[in-house]
Amino acid sequence: MTIAVPHNRLTHGAREAEAVAAAVASGYWAGGPRVGSLEAALAERARRPAAVAVGSGLGALRLALRGLGVAPGDEVVVPAYSCVALANAVLACGARPVAVDVTPADWNLDPAKVEAALSRASKAIVAVHTFGAPADVAALKAFGLPVVEDCAHGFGHAGMGDRSDVAITSFYATKLMGAGEGGAVLCDAPIAGFVRQWRDYGDQQPDGTRLNDKMSDITAALALSQLQRLDELVARRANIAGRYDAALAPLAGSGGLTLPGSTAARVWYRYPIEVAGRDAASVIAALAAKGIGAAEPVWDWRTAEQGTCAVAARAYRGLVSLPLYPTLSADEQDAVIAAVKMLVLD
Ligand SMILES: *Cc1c(COP(=O)(O)O)cnc(C)c1O
Repeated sequence: MTIAVPHNRLTHGAREAEAVAAAVASGYWAGGPRVGSLEAALAERARRPAAVAVGSGLGALRLALRGLGVAPGDEVVVPAYSCVALANAVLACGARPVAVDVTPADWNLDPAKVEAALSRASKAIVAVHTFGAPADVAALKAFGLPVVEDCAHGFGHAGMGDRSDVAITSFYATKLMGAGEGGAVLCDAPIAGFVRQWRDYGDQQPDGTRLNDKMSDITAALALSQLQRLDELVARRANIAGRYDAALAPLAGSGGLTLPGSTAARVWYRYPIEVAGRDAASVIAALAAKGIGAAEPVWDWRTAEQGTCAVAARAYRGLVSLPLYPTLSADEQDAVIAAVKMLVLD
């Protein structure tokens, strides 16, 4: 008997359902107390003076960059292997995204390659904790530019969220903490004041850069219930990643399989693998034929302007994300492991 294992499945229960029902019944669907409660809980978790909830991770990034003073004509360093939302946030400020290559160890922005990408126009560096592995924020801060830490894949553990000048996160449905849509900026009081000012257009002069970036109370209720169970979500993911590591280790290295780096303290948001000699599309198709949903974790947004970035190119070509989420059952994990073994040993 084969079982179908989806690539993603959301984690929710009575906690989420009751929180949303209470928000609906409260009569405050927007501008109510739940947004403030979420902000207080996020700030505490990230050990920041303030957090400001917004409508999306992209909005959080855009407002964080503008809060740091990024303006038309400026340049912002972003990882070449990253969500296109980073490039869009920079472009929305009228600035230019400068892609810098990532490391093959954890697919994070490579501090050794940043220097060559800097110019007098450089205004900030955005680093993602890719797949939950902490980016080297300390090394990036040494360049003297503000560092924005993107915590959509890793937050609240291993110093993720509290080391940079400004952190942002996303509550998109399938992220580490999902709430449908939503985001937040974690920062000091001046930037928080800026983001609060600019997430709203009410009673303000006409301005094409002043959009509606507010979060609803219904979303905040959902996000807060996910934050409250973050440790449980992270522990469950780590447990599954540990099983994958143990079962797949014999195929790693000369066996043809590259497993994600698990040495550093990390959060297991994604479990990306690479199969020697095969591109991502062929691995995904082979796993799909065995009922396993796998996916290319990041879409290649780069233009010719972004240069070669060989490590990012390799990641876009070969990385495949396996199912890894808190509700993945032992039988489903076994099915994933069996399918990967068959694929590699074929
Ligand atoms: C999803 C994602 C974003 C954008 O978040 P949205 O809420 O979808 O706008 C930004 N950065 C990273 C690393 C992401 O994974």
